[in-house]
Amino acid sequence: MKVPMLDLHAQYEPLMPKIREAMERVYADHHYIMGPQVKELEDKMAAYLGIKHAIGCASGTDALVLAIKALGIGEGDEVITTSFTFFATASSIWRNFAKPVFVDIDPQTFNLDPAKIEASITKNTKAIMPVHLFGQCTNMEAIMAIAKKHNLKVIEDNAQGIGGTWNGKMSCSFGDIGTLSFFPSKNLGAMGDAGMCLTNDDDLAAKLRQLRVHGESPKYYHKWVGLNSRLDTMQAAVLSVKLDALADWSKARRANAEFYNTHLMGVKGITTPYIDPKAVSIYNQYTLTCEKRDELLSYLQEKGIGCAVYYPLPLHVQECFSSLGYKEGDLPVSEEMAKKVLSIPIYPELSTEQKQYICDAIIAFYRN
Ligand SMILES: *Cc1c(COP(=O)(O)O)cnc(C)c1O
Repeated sequence: MKVPMLDLHAQYEPLMPKIREAMERVYADHHYIMGPQVKELEDKMAAYLGIKHAIGCASGTDALVLAIKALGIGEGDEVITTSFTFFATASSIWRNFAKPVFVDIDPQTFNLDPAKIEASITKNTKAIMPVHLFGQCTNMEAIMAIAKKHNLKVIEDNAQGIGGTWNGKMSCSFGDIGTLSFFPSKNLGAMGDAGMCLTNDDDLAAKLRQLRVHGESPKYYHKWVGLNSRLDTMQAAVLSVKLDALADWSKARRANAEFYNTHLMGVKGITTPYIDPKAVSIYNQYTLTCEKRDELLSYLQEKGIGCAVYYPLPLHVQECFSSLGYKEGDLPVSEEMAKKVLSIPIYPELSTEQKQYICDAIIAFYRN
């Protein structure tokens, strides 16, 4: 048997008639940049998440760059974030000439540990940027309380967490700005790159709309130096169709997680993902913490099972950030997790046979 990490064929097949129709409508009026489908998707997403404004842009990375820019964060400013995340979380800070300040994570949720944040706040700290890693919302009550106490902005990197909740409230709706990525492997993926900013603040929304088109308003008049970062009309058309399926996909991912939790319970050598009772995860990844991780990875790959390490090297020890002065040992939990995590297939279309095959392989590995 073969089980890929993600099966886009299976995901797209039932939707293709509708997606083709939606694409035909884009061809019909050749309005490729900021066509009506962009606003349609923005309105639909704002309603889905219960947030006032949605601003489409070219990628999840750009959404973060735009968010930081819109909040006026730049040279000399510090942004507190996690080191155990995808590169763009920190590069977006760097690219705005601000300084990423890395704080360690909670070993159970892999998310920023609120208890460790205050020790890293300085007079230059302007914002906290939590990441809802693998689909589980960070403890946003704790983050918002710290932000309020120290008068800091909050940007939620929700690239992996669309539709997840904390205490019944949607991720992306707690902070000043939340961001989404529609990279094809995210829970809601485009047929290419795309992203979005979400905010309840009218002024920030207006500024984000300007910043994504070179900072211009009116046309050819520039108050800021913005980006060329629009969400393609074609991608918006595709995403609008796919958004209708998202809630069901999230449910199927949770059911798959439940299957793994049950079948892998008590297997010596691994810990199944911990989800805080206050969070509802959308399982962008199902991530095990394992002994002998690299051996398990090779073993599963030999068995035809797709699996992956997110992420093998925390950001504070990446070469490009060496001038920040971090060294191995500074963030022990992030460093330990980078050596122990392994994500296994969790996509909605997995069959029971496939899930069983994966569980059997893992159990067999630890038995030997
Ligand atoms: C995917 C991802 C991004 C970047 O999104 P792109 O659309 O690929 O630019 C940012 N942050 C996190 C946590 C991600 O997983």
